[in-house]
Amino acid sequence: ANFDTAGLHPVMLNNVKLAGYETPTPIQRYCLPAIKMGYDVVAVAQTGSGKTAAYLIPILNALMGKAKKLAAPRPNPAQFVEGVDQAVRAEPLVVIVCPSRELAVQVFSEARKFCYRTMLRPCVIYGGGPAMEQRAQLQKGCDILIASPGRLIDFMDDTRLLSLRRVRYMVIDEADEMLHDDWKTDFDTIMSGGEIEEGNVRYMLFSATFPKQFRDIAKNHLAETHVRLR
Ligand code: AMP
Repeated sequence: ANFDTAGLHPVMLNNVKLAGYETPTPIQRYCLPAIKMGYDVVAVAQTGSGKTAAYLIPILNALMGKAKKLAAPRPNPAQFVEGVDQAVRAEPLVVIVCPSRELAVQVFSEARKFCYRTMLRPCVIYGGGPAMEQRAQLQKGCDILIASPGRLIDFMDDTRLLSLRRVRYMVIDEADEMLHDDWKTDFDTIMSGGEIEEGNVRYMLFSATFPKQFRDIAKNHLAETHVRLR
């Protein structure tokens, strides 16, 4: 199997080539068709396995065909004057929850590669980063939101800044890193507080291990648990 026969949109295939990826890693070979088929995915995968591209490529590819129609509202560039309030509300189609700033930044850099020429705009927000600047980035339009849970919940409080009502894909990356006591509350806040329409959302859980807490989330939220790799 290789990327040429994966049924990717030419723009996405080109981005894969530009990234220098020639053959899919094992987890990519599983995730590409599973996500394309519309399955929810639970993947047990280590960092270094190519897990980021394993969800980014098929998710972005699925959104490609509809990108023109779905892409976030943008400020009108013809009317854009620096300092004048032209802000739009961010209504991302994809939310990728990352437990650490490092991971969020890494995923964002990968997302930029694959968003090239897709009309989909990625943004990254995380605690400890410049909130004003992150806010300003969201207000320029955001289709793919990469976020640490705390900052995501903070920004969700401001309903003029961010709404999750259009989310189609929810990815929890390095899920086992988020198994601290507050995680369950955080997860419930994200799921219930952002106008998410559960029926429209596909879930992807990526984790190095697969402990009981995630079996519960999978049972409650995922329609199909499809991929399991070691
Ligand atoms: P990850 O597991 O997502 O952190 O990826 C680990 C590294 O592998 C990253 O530097 C990726 O850019 C790279 N990578 C991911 N998929 C491929 C591929 N199919 N071929 C070559 N490198 C890849």
